[in-house]
Amino acid sequence: MTMFEYDSRPVTPQVVLIGTRASPVAYAVRDFLTRNGRPYEWIDVDDVRARSIIAEVGDDRSLLPICVLPDGARLAPASVEQVAFGLGMLAPPLQSAYDLAIVGAGPAGLAAAVYGSSEGLATIAVEAVAPGGQAGTTSMIENYLGFPTGVSGNELATRAVLQARRFGTEILVARHLARASYEGHDLKLELSDSCEFTARAVLLATGVEWRRLNVEGIDDLLGTNIFYGAGPSEAASCGNARVAIVGGGNSAGQAAVRFSKYAARVTLLVRAESLAASMSQYLLDRITHTENIDVRTCTEIVGLEGDGQLRRLVLSRTGTRDLERLDTDALFICIGGTPRSADAVGVGAITDAGGYVVTGYELVEGNVPPKGWTLQRPPLPLETNLPGIFAAGDVRHGSIKRCAAAIGEGAMAVAFVHRRLEELDGG
Ligand SMILES: Cc1cc2nc3c(=O)[nH]c(=O)nc-3n(C[C@H](O)[C@H](O)[C@H](O)COP(=O)(O)OP(=O)(O)OC[C@H]3O[C@@H](n4cnc5c(N)ncnc54)[C@H](O)[C@@H]3O)c2cc1C
Repeated sequence: MTMFEYDSRPVTPQVVLIGTRASPVAYAVRDFLTRNGRPYEWIDVDDVRARSIIAEVGDDRSLLPICVLPDGARLAPASVEQVAFGLGMLAPPLQSAYDLAIVGAGPAGLAAAVYGSSEGLATIAVEAVAPGGQAGTTSMIENYLGFPTGVSGNELATRAVLQARRFGTEILVARHLARASYEGHDLKLELSDSCEFTARAVLLATGVEWRRLNVEGIDDLLGTNIFYGAGPSEAASCGNARVAIVGGGNSAGQAAVRFSKYAARVTLLVRAESLAASMSQYLLDRITHTENIDVRTCTEIVGLEGDGQLRRLVLSRTGTRDLERLDTDALFICIGGTPRSADAVGVGAITDAGGYVVTGYELVEGNVPPKGWTLQRPPLPLETNLPGIFAAGDVRHGSIKRCAAAIGEGAMAVAFVHRRLEELDGG
């Protein structure tokens, strides 16, 4: 285990969170704290240690989750935004104008931050949850160049954040882009906490979010013991549990390996006939050699049974009419993502049928530039149909959906941002 690996059991927690495991808000706060590296202590509402604090704020379940901040302040009920504010994480931008604004601090955004600020651009990155993006939730990335024994997503993200900040990038967390509009050639950006600033170029690096599983009743139980993705904050709490993971890609495989270290049994549910086409061989080998991971191919979830929490999955096997029930303490759904391109669409960026942002030469058809394009030159590589607005990483049409690819695109985007700035400066 490296110094960067973490779980949700800090030695000296400064923040105390009291609630029920079944609360989606409590999950969001735990995820936010864990992924931002903020130690916290979780106390279940029925634990005797919770009694005095609950009595102080009023014995009312609607006030859960309660968050006790390091200065003793109580938030009841606590939300991610309030906790971020209470921990002093919502500083406003230091400047009113930047050369480059990056929306999303996953691998693509962080790479652009490092290259942009190291090359002298006044750079700001805005992140809705925590730096690292999807990669930050990954237990071990084993195919990233230069790390022969793998690197945890958290370590990669932590190192990148330190590097970007050392070069002068400002990183704002717990806020998302609310609006963007042109102000002359510059872009005016407004964030969800009403902060505003301008940028001469913008990089959209907002990645993807998990695809939804279409099973009746699932939305009612989300955040109780059913989750999209497999956040590191939950692994340690699955000690001796019977965990099910849906999905056949690398993210599902990584989650299975991570949870197998804590859970009594991990069942990987896969619709396809085999994992070979969708999962990297190294993960497949790891899964095959892990005794408490059971892979069920040709299997779909067709129903849920529970009582406010999931208790059993109803499974159907392709080609048979029999249904099987699987006792399950927690279900993690890792079935790929859909692009987070609402901001891009809001500004007028062209997307493909799947919602991915189209860039560069793919916007030009037979030498005809995209509708509304006003410049003499065609869009630069990674530039959208809006001059000065670029896209990189998983959110981009045609991207490879790998860390290295996202990082490469983030770095490349900065080269094209320089070209755009030279153009604005009349170079
Ligand atoms: C569990 C898991 C395991 C994986 N394993 C591997 C692996 O082993 N090897 C590999 O190469 N790849 C792996 N991947 C894929 C890899 O993590 C992604 O390809 C990579 O993270 C994409 O980077 P990105 O920066 O484009 O997007 P993301 O990582 O999705 O980051 C986008 C960021 O933008 C933020 N954001 C979104 N909208 C807004 C907004 N409006 N305002 C502000 N911020 C916003 C999000 O919160 C997020 O932090 C894995 C992915 C997962 C989920």
